Amino acid sequence: PNNTAGFAFDNSYARELAGLYAPWQAAQVPQPNVRKLNQTLAAQLGLDVALLDGELGAAIFSGNLAPAGATPLAQAYSGHQFGRFSGQLGDGRALLLGEVIDMLGQRRDIAFKGSGATPFSRGGDGKATLAPMLREYLISEAMYALGIPSTRALAVVSTGEAVVRETVLPGAVLTRVASSHLRVGTFQFVAAQDDEIALRQLADYAIARHDAALADHENPYLSFLQAVSERQAALLAQWMLVGFIHGVMNTDNMTISGETIDYGPCAFMDSYDPNTVFSSIDRQGRYAYGNQPQIAQWNLARLAETLLTLIDPDPERAVLLATAVLDSFPQRYQAHWLTGMRDKLGWVGEQPGDMELAKDFLTSMEGQDVDFTLAFRALAELLASPANQAASGLHALYQDSAKLDRWLPLWRQRVLNQAQVPEALAQRASAMRAVNPAYIPRNHLVEQALNAALQGDFEAFEQLLEVLQNPYQERAEWASYAEPGPASAAACYRTF
Ligand code: AMP
Ligand code: MG
Ligand code: MG
Repeated sequence: PNNTAGFAFDNSYARELAGLYAPWQAAQVPQPNVRKLNQTLAAQLGLDVALLDGELGAAIFSGNLAPAGATPLAQAYSGHQFGRFSGQLGDGRALLLGEVIDMLGQRRDIAFKGSGATPFSRGGDGKATLAPMLREYLISEAMYALGIPSTRALAVVSTGEAVVRETVLPGAVLTRVASSHLRVGTFQFVAAQDDEIALRQLADYAIARHDAALADHENPYLSFLQAVSERQAALLAQWMLVGFIHGVMNTDNMTISGETIDYGPCAFMDSYDPNTVFSSIDRQGRYAYGNQPQIAQWNLARLAETLLTLIDPDPERAVLLATAVLDSFPQRYQAHWLTGMRDKLGWVGEQPGDMELAKDFLTSMEGQDVDFTLAFRALAELLASPANQAASGLHALYQDSAKLDRWLPLWRQRVLNQAQVPEALAQRASAMRAVNPAYIPRNHLVEQALNAALQGDFEAFEQLLEVLQNPYQERAEWASYAEPGPASAAACYRTF
């Protein structure tokens, strides 16, 4: 039988990084059922969509049947979790099936999450449950549609198995696609072994895979650190600009590729508040919304430490060089943030004072439950109808608009600097709408969709997914998807 389903594997990680994984097999599951297949993504990967949307897909995406050419393996990695180093993490419930070259010529990892215990499970059962895997599907696809680098979701299969958590829950396997699963923690794992040959091998592999142009730089490893920092600076800015809170920015959950990975306790901020935390395990607020850029820099410092011996044989010089890269992170991040914020605010070009003025808008929202997403959409409406400002949708979001009222004339002045004619204003408003999402995965909507799915009704899930795949296209029939949830629900929302 043809069990390849179009998978044309070329498994460079398995081939080139012996010592960084354990060859492993997925557990067999009793009753696999495809709950969701990402047909568009499957086609981009060159897979046979028609074949996969049935029994063969269920067999493959549950792990019951390894497609020809797969070399399933559990990756080894370490990581700082909430600031504390763990030497042996690794894929405790994940499995890399292999890599395929997609239709654009990009190498992509195909990996399972929830496919059973591995040598890295440390007592865990290696399983995943349906609701969190569907949640990852929704949110990672929403991130992709927002234009934010992210791992993708290819399929969710229910396994027919009961998984014991606080209650008994339906088991599931998610198939995740990534430009690689190399993490800061992968480098930490190798660096901890004091094996310079292995370290160089990993770094060279990462460079070849993600930064091939750097291979003949004068100092490729320093350039690599810089490239990873640059990608993370850009990524963090994008998170902050849409109110994404990752929730568990441990070094094992930070990719070298610059893609968002590990959609566990993440959630989108509703009311603007830099201290927002959703994760039930983040009791100190280490990974609060407003802390994320500094945490990224901290994680990059952990990556830098692993690269020092490669950067320069003279330890002092290596530290100097790496420190210069790390020190440039805040400026890199701020540059990306400000560029994005100018677009969100409808500003063209660069003017002195932009940073302060942009931040003043955020300050105006503080402490009064202003919906972060709606505020930017409403601002675009103000450009379209300048007459009745006080009655605007933006004002309706505020309890006390005193700060906003001081800010708005300055904002308008800044917009008008570059757009005197009314047509230009209308264009500016639509440009703002093209970068400020109307639809984000609002927590109450996600919960509703998942609850219905657990009852076997996937309509709300499919509907929400469709909306999230078109975050900037406001449609009358989608009005309810743009609304904030009940304040009572928002105040106690917790992720796990
Ligand atoms: P995370 O916080 O999701 O990045 O996971 C941290 C570590 O715990 C990783 O090494 C995971 O593979 C592992 N892990 C999470 N859940 C399970 C599970 N149910 N069974 C085994 N290992 C797990
Ligand atoms: Mg993880
Ligand atoms: Mg996780």
